[in-house]
Amino acid sequence: NALQDPPYLAGLNPPQRDAVLTTDGPVLVLAGAGTGKTAALTARLAHLLWTRKAYPSEILSVTFTNKAAREMRERVGRLVGDAVEGMPWLGTFHAIGAKMLRRHAELVGLQSNFTILDTDDQLRLLKQLIVAADLDEKRFPARSLAGLIDEWKNKGLTPSEIDAGESERYGNGRGGELYQQYQDRLRAVNACDFGDLLLHVLTILKRERSVLEQYQQRFRYIMVDEYQDTNSVQYLWLRLLAQERRNICCVGDDDQSIYSWRGAQVENILKFEKDFPGAKVIRLEQNYRSTPHILAAASGVIANNGGRLGKELWTELDAGEKVRVLGVWDGPEEARRVGEEIEAAQRDGTNLDHVAILVRAQHQTREFEDRFIAIGLPYRIVGGFRFYERAEIRDALAYLRVVHQPADDLAFERIVNTPKRGLGDKAIAKLHQLARAERLPLSIAAARILDSDELTPQARKALGRFVGDVARWRDMANDLPHAELARQILDESGYTAMWQAEKSAEAAGRLENLTELVRAMEEYESLTAFLEHVSLVMDNEATREDPKVTIMTIHAAKGLEFDTVFLAGWEEGLFPSQRALDEGGTRSLEEERRLAYVAITRARRRATILHAANRRIYGQWTSSLPSRFVGELPDAHVESETSMSGGESLWRANWSERADPFADVARGTGRGPGWQRAAGTLGTQSGSKPGGEWTSRTFSREPVRVVESRASAVSI
Ligand code: ATP
Ligand code: MG
Repeated sequence: NALQDPPYLAGLNPPQRDAVLTTDGPVLVLAGAGTGKTAALTARLAHLLWTRKAYPSEILSVTFTNKAAREMRERVGRLVGDAVEGMPWLGTFHAIGAKMLRRHAELVGLQSNFTILDTDDQLRLLKQLIVAADLDEKRFPARSLAGLIDEWKNKGLTPSEIDAGESERYGNGRGGELYQQYQDRLRAVNACDFGDLLLHVLTILKRERSVLEQYQQRFRYIMVDEYQDTNSVQYLWLRLLAQERRNICCVGDDDQSIYSWRGAQVENILKFEKDFPGAKVIRLEQNYRSTPHILAAASGVIANNGGRLGKELWTELDAGEKVRVLGVWDGPEEARRVGEEIEAAQRDGTNLDHVAILVRAQHQTREFEDRFIAIGLPYRIVGGFRFYERAEIRDALAYLRVVHQPADDLAFERIVNTPKRGLGDKAIAKLHQLARAERLPLSIAAARILDSDELTPQARKALGRFVGDVARWRDMANDLPHAELARQILDESGYTAMWQAEKSAEAAGRLENLTELVRAMEEYESLTAFLEHVSLVMDNEATREDPKVTIMTIHAAKGLEFDTVFLAGWEEGLFPSQRALDEGGTRSLEEERRLAYVAITRARRRATILHAANRRIYGQWTSSLPSRFVGELPDAHVESETSMSGGESLWRANWSERADPFADVARGTGRGPGWQRAAGTLGTQSGSKPGGEWTSRTFSREPVRVVESRASAVSI
């Protein structure tokens, strides 16, 4: 009865309500894109608080990005007011892991103010170890070792669990040994990497019975969004934590599993019912996000994957526009066209915040950035560590880290001679020697070495000044606001001056970035909080004021939605990626296809897919074929256009054979069976097929149909 419903239930459909109201016992919500999984999870959180089934601090809610956590916090806040204050355990696995690890750091040999390394630091450290181990870094690149260690960590394997076979995968059987050394070294500098945030916590939960019990008691309820992308170590966490109370609710979509390259295991969905017998499985089938054409296009593509759990999806929305496929001459024209279209939409009143450009690979953003800067179209880049990955930002952060944490050798190394202070390689080598011999952090060794006569007078003077500066900054840190501290450090160290002295346009941009960094710091209550944030940010959306077009990778767009979406670069070798093509087999190709499915289903009203006939790759122009996924789009829901070079004329789908990029395909010279347009099986039928073909029954308004939830509905 709507009148008596608490606010968070308003408008939810019956299976969503079921997911919200079934609070006790294991629940798995298995449903396609845009069916309101996250909405149901948010309402469930509100429900638990509203009915006082748990205090905010007794609920563990895992989201996939920090942004999603923030949104959930805001939404629950609107629904239940203050109760949401202090939801300490709402966040990403990494954020929650960092928090737990800070509380129990000593159990794995760290101090609670440990540093979280980024990949750059990680690689530098690994390189040192590789050299020290007398391995040829060319033959055994640090990157491979980093990837391998990451893989082990995602699987929940500590160095002692690496057997000879695994060890064989790097450096003639020395992989395990280097992994151990790396972990020792991290401990020595009081640092950990991303994988450790999960693995150390798992180690603690497995080893320390009392800690595990404490958390098992604490977390009355556990909820997980995007469950299809959990990896083994995350899965093991959840299993341990939920074992006692068994109040765990996971929501996911096997078709949106796109992180297997990071160790995610879609099989975790299948294991759920085994690990939690009697689990209630709920399916949501009404899509509230996208128009029928968009939905049918996405369904048509994903139907080409095998081994799906199978779902049904429908919508009540008006048909709307067909998905547009736009063939352009080259990359710059792609960016130009998208820019023009966005400007036109803007004139018609479109809010830029509701427009996104989604790319397969990070490097694709460059072309759009160039173009948008040229025409003055505001945009933001979201995802990855782009902003914080820039050299000047990393340098600035290294200064802050040295001040914050004397044991942070990697940060110290990065800036001890940046800007140049007249410290030669020899002086630095001496410093390293002393630090190693005395087992001291570099910043302490630096103070020590000044008392000796190891250094030349010039080096001694330079180092002396630097050591003095750092000591002074540490003092200042006690009473200056941290953003102000950062500003002063950058000035007094000569770092800002270094870029000011360089008159290039690039240097000007770097100075702007530094200003932006200090501005961003003001939003955090302490230096610790800020540095923690930097380590964790998955998305850089610090500036929120004006509406902006969003440019991001498909990976980063998971769970999000936009009115208007441009999907750029749908070409063989770009999307699906060359790597997926080179690997052959269906596994990586199917993951690419799931990416395509995620990409299309981000769109609410309009989706435009672009492919260019020519791309410049490593400075070479190459001609490219439209993506096979373009070929898989069901004809009935797609409208194709192609533009002449320069964009001066457009014409509709009735291409002449020569101009038709699919002509080769039609003549049978295409690439394999997935390449043909899958006609006839998609889109317009109205019955659900046994065996669970994802069918879109979308073209007339249908009444809301109650979908019964039965555990047996999932045939696994
Ligand atoms: P994804 O698989 O992409 O993560 P999802 O299943 O989590 O999607 P949501 O993001 O929760 O889907 O919801 C998609 C859209 O539908 C949102 O705009 C949400 O507000 C809206 N929505 C969800 N449930 C309902 C409902 N019962 N009535 C109306 N709108 C709804
Ligand atoms: Mg979601």
